[in-house]
Amino acid sequence: MSTQKSYISTDIDFDREGKQIGRLRLPYSRNTSGWGIIPIPIAVVRNGSGPTVLLTAGNHGDEYEGQITLNTLIRTLEPRHIKGRVIILPAMNYPAAMAGRRVSPFDGVNLNRAFPGDPDGTPSQQIAHYVASVLVPMADAIMDLHSGGYSMRMLPTAIIYRPSTPELLERVIGAAHAWGCPLGILFDDLGERRTFDAICRDAGMLKLGTELAGGGAVSVEALAFAETGIWNLLKYFGVLVASPPAPRHPCPRSGPMRLTEITGPEAYVYATGHAIFEPAFGLGDEVAAGQVAGWQHYLDEIERDPVPLHFHKGGLVACTRGPGRIEPGDLAALVVTDTTG
Ligand code: CA
Repeated sequence: MSTQKSYISTDIDFDREGKQIGRLRLPYSRNTSGWGIIPIPIAVVRNGSGPTVLLTAGNHGDEYEGQITLNTLIRTLEPRHIKGRVIILPAMNYPAAMAGRRVSPFDGVNLNRAFPGDPDGTPSQQIAHYVASVLVPMADAIMDLHSGGYSMRMLPTAIIYRPSTPELLERVIGAAHAWGCPLGILFDDLGERRTFDAICRDAGMLKLGTELAGGGAVSVEALAFAETGIWNLLKYFGVLVASPPAPRHPCPRSGPMRLTEITGPEAYVYATGHAIFEPAFGLGDEVAAGQVAGWQHYLDEIERDPVPLHFHKGGLVACTRGPGRIEPGDLAALVVTDTTG
């Protein structure tokens, strides 16, 4: 990571006691705003000494439950609830969040492929650099809230990256159980170095992620999991010392978390045509290897029979396509299986 200082400044004093709501100010000169800034919302709640928890959402702008959850938390979390410090960024890639898009409209950059960032780079690269070089080093634990976005729909899930040590893995799985979603997925990022997870793994950080719902919509069920889960996590991370306020939505009933993993490329079903995809399954179905996953319909070739896609392995369908239209290489379904280890 560059040792160059960030251009981003803030009115927040991270050491001050109490609750502050402010902005990160990213200078960004453009046609419509010559001396303008990008004002990225941030809140810090501090009460004495204790762990620091960093909570982020809006890494992808079209994933809404996390943004609502942290926006609500900013207005409900008070210093008396905690010992320590909670830093909250509800719209980490603010331009993408305002546009409701996965990537920033200013630079076309996916923030979650921009880490560890560049202090002299585009706005998204500068945000990644600030988070990686200023915020992550302050934190003892990190939670980054994602959903499936416009293009995917997910089951409410704790996403568990594989940290560098077994001790840390045990703590991350503990955090996933505390979060309270019915499903956990051990995620293998296949050596990816550009994600928020990757820099946290390299820094030996305790970090948990989520997938909540998706399809470009807001799921009230997923929101209920997230709004209860965020307080559960603050307790698990050791900062919550008071009872949380009553939840706005009753948390859906769920048993203990089912811990699963993505075993490899065979877990993914990809589209092969420019078509409408008709799924032959529902999210959360158990499926078998070889089973039809769905059909690709060709309305520009109405003489042609629909072309089936098949599951390559059996397991639980945790993710499917959001929109009806599909193109070669789009993810049609993801199958996860119970962990063996
Ligand atoms: Ca995402």
